[in-house]
Amino acid sequence: MGLCYYCEERERESWGSYYCAECKRLQRVLKLYNTDVYEAVENLFLRNKKQQNFKLQNELKKKLNDEIKEHEKKEVEEEKKEYNLRKKKP
Ligand SMILES: [Zn+2]
Repeated sequence: MGLCYYCEERERESWGSYYCAECKRLQRVLKLYNTDVYEAVENLFLRNKKQQNFKLQNELKKKLNDEIKEHEKKEVEEEKKEYNLRKKKP
């Protein structure tokens, strides 16, 4: 039957149709809710993707900072131990 003119992935619904069943349905939804659909797509997929990346970056930063702090804490403890050992020696 040939591929859908829109997604170019799925088979067309019928001989007379240009689109597959899914894209045909999307087309109907778009006709009904035009701007709402556009905003929903924008908010759900495009904007959230950016926010997810931002969130991920922040989480990575926090993890790295925690690891650095933990490392510094260990270093200070080691220095304290060494200092105490030196103090005990006569
Ligand atoms: Zn399609």
